[in-house]
Amino acid sequence: MCAVERPILTSIFELFKPGPGPSSSHTIGPMSAGLDFRALLESLPEAELGRGVRLTVRLLGSLSATGKGHGTDRAVLTGLLGYAPASCPAHLPAGVFSMPERDRLLRLSAPVPPLGPENVIFDRVEHTHPFSNTLICSLLDAQDAPVLERVYYSVGGGFIQWEGWSAPERGKPPYPFDSAETLCCLAEEKGLSLPSILMANEMALSGKSRVEVMEGLDMLIEVMRRAVDRGSRAEGLLPGELKVYRKAARLAGRADRMDDPLNRFLGLLNAYAFAVAEENAAGGIIVTAPTCGSAGVMAAMLTIMEGYLGFGPEAVRGGLMVAAAVGFLAKRHAGIAGAEVGCQGEVGVASAMAAAMLAQARGYAPAVVFNAAEIALEHHLGLTCDPVGGYVQIPCIERNAMGALKAYNACLVAAAEETDKHRVSLDQAIRAMGETGQDMNAKYKETSQGGLAASVDC
Ligand code: SF4
Repeated sequence: MCAVERPILTSIFELFKPGPGPSSSHTIGPMSAGLDFRALLESLPEAELGRGVRLTVRLLGSLSATGKGHGTDRAVLTGLLGYAPASCPAHLPAGVFSMPERDRLLRLSAPVPPLGPENVIFDRVEHTHPFSNTLICSLLDAQDAPVLERVYYSVGGGFIQWEGWSAPERGKPPYPFDSAETLCCLAEEKGLSLPSILMANEMALSGKSRVEVMEGLDMLIEVMRRAVDRGSRAEGLLPGELKVYRKAARLAGRADRMDDPLNRFLGLLNAYAFAVAEENAAGGIIVTAPTCGSAGVMAAMLTIMEGYLGFGPEAVRGGLMVAAAVGFLAKRHAGIAGAEVGCQGEVGVASAMAAAMLAQARGYAPAVVFNAAEIALEHHLGLTCDPVGGYVQIPCIERNAMGALKAYNACLVAAAEETDKHRVSLDQAIRAMGETGQDMNAKYKETSQGGLAASVDC
């Protein structure tokens, strides 16, 4: 029996979400919080709503420390105006403050003025809420007393919770798991492949049919491909004060001209990762994998698998599902937000997911798949999050390319090993990441107060 105490109930489509960059926890999460608060406002009786004269959003913790560079203020207002991350036009959040006043009205019966930068308060970095990325949305009356208030937590990967939140009711997965070990045990005991297990669970959890799940996966793959394509052609400077110029197009052009197949392969993998990470930095639409800041790793691996290594749709879909399982485990047992555990939880986990995706697509046994993920994660342990100036650019963009290369190498090493001689399990590496993240000084958890952020002038 593959015993499980608390099965993972996250859907693949909650982990992988299309949305605008640059940050899942600082952009997509706050936008979702704004949208949720708008729904709460819409559910208020007219008389109550009519008492509200001012709307405020207080940003705390890492959202306050790096929210300006991440566009958190713009993202939360975009959500309050009724835009959802998955359907929001690319680059709309970046320009929300310059929209005409009539387009910044709540259009509810609360007599609040058009939304703008004055609605957002960059509050305390140190606080006592359970998650660093905390934001408090309030509708205030004429005496500044809250008519309605909700404390939100952006817990990484674009997921949000709030004070008093409880997990939504879900269907029961037929193959419950909460570790890589239980997944391997299930695969052996039931004689099923990892993608078959994850497909059955996804259908039960989300209520989608097999065809709908496959269509959903294909949609995610298409968004990733488009981000690679856009980013590989775009040139010029990225937004913000750092004056970082886009390099993906140059890297792709150079790789295309290379005769040596190894250099060409590495050059293309770099170019694809840069392309998506640069699109993300520019506020373009990417897929969280597991986060915005690390979205280039999986998209690069997927593109190289399809375009260079010749994998077909079935192998890619199966790999994507297995990558999701690695993301679920990291989220459950450690964290996937830079503000909670550092960059090991973002690029480190993305690298582990990409290694698992490739190993699965190559048809390796579950033990090899998870060993590949473990090797990729192990060599990101301790990686800090120190974005210069609060922009998801330095070190984030190059770091995506390094994460993709490590993922490829991790798969090579895992495939060459005798699986039963591999000494560290993925579950152990994830636990180590969680403990390391807990002990990590707050300076290195997306506050831009330490590391490169402190040593590089903006
Ligand atoms: S350093 Fe890593 S965790 Fe931090 S913002 Fe950049 S990609 Fe995200």
